[in-house]
Amino acid sequence: MINFLSLKSINSQYSNELKDACSRVIDSGWYIMGPELEAFESEFAQYCGTEYAIGVANGLDALVLTIRAWKELGKLNVGDEVIVPANTYIASILAISENGLTPVLVEPDEETLNISPTNIRAAITDKTKAILPVHLYGLICPMPQIMEIAQEFELLVLEDCAQAHGANMDGKKVGSWAHAGAFSFYPGKNLGALGDAGAIVTNDNELANVIRALRNYGSHRKYENQYKGVNSRLDEIQAAMLRVKLKHLDAETARRQQIAAKYLIGLATVEQIKLPTVNNQNEHVWHLFVIQTDCRQDLADHLLNSGVQTLIHYPIAPHAQQAYASEFDGYDLPITERIHSQVLSLPIDPTMSDIDVDFIISSIKQFYKS
Ligand SMILES: *Cc1c(COP(=O)(O)O)cnc(C)c1O
Repeated sequence: MINFLSLKSINSQYSNELKDACSRVIDSGWYIMGPELEAFESEFAQYCGTEYAIGVANGLDALVLTIRAWKELGKLNVGDEVIVPANTYIASILAISENGLTPVLVEPDEETLNISPTNIRAAITDKTKAILPVHLYGLICPMPQIMEIAQEFELLVLEDCAQAHGANMDGKKVGSWAHAGAFSFYPGKNLGALGDAGAIVTNDNELANVIRALRNYGSHRKYENQYKGVNSRLDEIQAAMLRVKLKHLDAETARRQQIAAKYLIGLATVEQIKLPTVNNQNEHVWHLFVIQTDCRQDLADHLLNSGVQTLIHYPIAPHAQQAYASEFDGYDLPITERIHSQVLSLPIDPTMSDIDVDFIISSIKQFYKS
């Protein structure tokens, strides 16, 4: 069986380093808000090319707390509109509604499946105060155009980087383009902890300070609470695991890019599937390799029978989720709905062998021949 993603094979590559780091934390006697977190924050900020990184408990909190901090700073208010891609993972949208702001859904570009600058422009109203682009599947959004629109209309921009650690345009990485970037280190993400974790990166000192307080009960100084904060800290063990994993991230990304290149060449002749598009190798870190097909279920069944596990990201669009009941009733989102009915994610585990990749390619070709 070729699994969709084997966390065990990924982490066992670094087993000794991870165990050493774990022992270091156990023996230190310091488990929350200590030297490992401080070191990880500084190493991750340096990796992203930003001044600051602030560790939090998970990726959703990274998004929620950034918006919350902008509210505390008076830059956003309840009822403001935030433009967000309609075909994102629901977390991006939850972070907006959780803060009492209004998500405004826009359709993606049909080629890249990322948010379309043209559609952003068309969605701007008097109430629009921010844009939340998502680097979906690992592909960086058209950030130069998005930042230009933001400047023109004086909007804040928060990048959802949960799927795109290290993706860049001419060396400028995700998270460093906008006013802030939110990351998830959920175990299955490209940079994954061995549990839940997340971070915000920014060059804005004031924003960083408010988020640092919010993640720790709204307190800058013990027992003095400036804000009604939350408990969303990244603990020492996970910070230590992430310091090990960060050192190997670029090598894992390079392997993902190799596998993607093999798929793109191997499947180029299969007319019945639409392959992902990419202009420049560094722009895509291939969190997911997503194809589009009219006969998704039959192909997925065929692959499973051949011993290949696939997944769907995502089967139900956020606007169609029960959680949002009728909130998005006025929307017409044909592209998003088509995407959700046609996408299929092929395995792109950095520990997969070339033999596995070739096998998946030939199984897909065999399906379309018969
Ligand atoms: C995974 C993910 C998140 C949330 O991260 P968690 O750590 O699971 O809370 C947010 N946005 C996107 C696009 C994601 O893929």
